[in-house]
Amino acid sequence: MNNKVMQFIIILIILLNRKVDTFQKWTYDDQKAWSIDNKECSDHYQSPININPNDLILNDSLKIEFHNYNQPSSNYRVTNHGHSVQFDYIGDSIMVPMITGSALNGKEFALQQFHFHWGLEPKFGSEHRIDDHIYPIEMHLVHYNHDEYQSFSQALQSRNENVAVLAIFFDIQNKNNPDFDVISEKIQHLQTTHTNYSIDLQDRLILQFLLPKNIRNFYRYHGSFTTPPCTTNVTWLVMNQPNEIGFIQYEKFKNVIDHKSGKPIGNNYRQLQQLNGRKIECSFQHHQQQQNNNNNNGDHSNKSISMIIILVLSIIDLLAFLTLSKFYMFK
Ligand SMILES: [Zn+2]
Repeated sequence: MNNKVMQFIIILIILLNRKVDTFQKWTYDDQKAWSIDNKECSDHYQSPININPNDLILNDSLKIEFHNYNQPSSNYRVTNHGHSVQFDYIGDSIMVPMITGSALNGKEFALQQFHFHWGLEPKFGSEHRIDDHIYPIEMHLVHYNHDEYQSFSQALQSRNENVAVLAIFFDIQNKNNPDFDVISEKIQHLQTTHTNYSIDLQDRLILQFLLPKNIRNFYRYHGSFTTPPCTTNVTWLVMNQPNEIGFIQYEKFKNVIDHKSGKPIGNNYRQLQQLNGRKIECSFQHHQQQQNNNNNNGDHSNKSISMIIILVLSIIDLLAFLTLSKFYMFK
């Protein structure tokens, strides 16, 4: 190999390393700096958001249909990539788990990967909040528009909403959730492996068991990825009801380390973003909306009672006036 070729290879390796470093240098500790290298992180329609009941618009025609979510599969590659633990789907396109339905305008979205955001204490963790409530864990199942694109990377090229992320919250209970064991065992395994090292799932996983019992109640809004490059091409589907895992299973998340910094990965959640006039649709009658309705009904009945009291008092006044008039007339 002559010297020029050798020099070219060395320069190429340096440039590639620099590119990887630039791509991965963002941290959760300094989120304001994200938009320096990724302009879209300061765009208008960012995620996550607080789902405030006062901002909700009821749309009870919204439905999500799940395909292949009930098929046991070990076709996942698990990686600790320093910001989360990620399970990439590596199976064929026939058996790929998909979501569709009116919530996605009838288009089919295929699963690319899922990953988690968690707190180092249970009072933090989730990225989204429902009426200011924070959950200890939030799982993101990232899908791409499979009707129009062959791959996730192709779908990302478009500015349109060609990505759909299904967000599921997890609460912590005393008893372990046996359906979560396949995941928590792999997370335990990742505690001893280096960042960016991947392992294949050996046991079979049934995604449907990770969903909450009630899958009809969810929120939909237009937002972004919650990590750089923060592109705003995501349809968010946020489940209202949480699922649950055991305390021992939660502890395994806390022990996953980013080997570059030597620190635990936990508290890997982005700060809340402004809604900026977006609407959040709700597939069900939210309790706060019901309360508002009840309050309105209450106002109506209070007004009716007031009217009756005023009417009765007026009649008493009138009778008293007539009686007194008669009394003075006879006098
Ligand atoms: Zn995420």
